[in-house]
Amino acid sequence: MGYIDDKTYEPESTGGNFMKLVDGENKIRIVTPTYYFRKHNSQEGGKFKSVICIGENCPLCAEGDRAKSRYAWVIIDRKDGQAKILEVGWSVYEQMLSLAKDEEYGDLNTYDLKIKKSGEGLGTSYAVVASPKKTDITKAELDLVGKADIDLDKVFGGGKYTKKEEPEVKEPFKVSLAWSEKQADLGDESDMPDDFLTGKED
Ligand SMILES: [Zn+2]
Repeated sequence: MGYIDDKTYEPESTGGNFMKLVDGENKIRIVTPTYYFRKHNSQEGGKFKSVICIGENCPLCAEGDRAKSRYAWVIIDRKDGQAKILEVGWSVYEQMLSLAKDEEYGDLNTYDLKIKKSGEGLGTSYAVVASPKKTDITKAELDLVGKADIDLDKVFGGGKYTKKEEPEVKEPFKVSLAWSEKQADLGDESDMPDDFLTGKED
């Protein structure tokens, strides 16, 4: 926090747009290698919440919650031509994997993919179809991806990055110690207003 120079300031990358798979056809081109991570899904007060598993020392794993495998890429959404993040679970990746391992298709970034979504809720299913045409990613597309500046490791790397930003434990302890020393100088209870002693508010 502090003063910044507006003219030279460059905002931090927000991690990029996520692609939302819509009903019907979603055509994409994968640009990066597959990024693997794990995620905990839980419901808190009726709200769906997902937390990236930090692996070793993960508090949710310690509680016995099982994290699910997730797979992500930077992709180009063929619908609007934008670079986005696509995150999928095993049911989609499994199909991509068999394309990647099929020697008639191969590397996932050498052809477009269509992900067809159908059904709703728990009945949602996805079918992945590869475009029969192999095409190179163009220079313009690479520039677009470069500009989007999406670092999957930063987005999905779990505690790796956020941990560093957490303040050290020592600091708040020192502060609270100083605060309690001050309290000792405030005089005795008779100097305090009645409502403070009874805990009543007005
Ligand atoms: Zn975990």
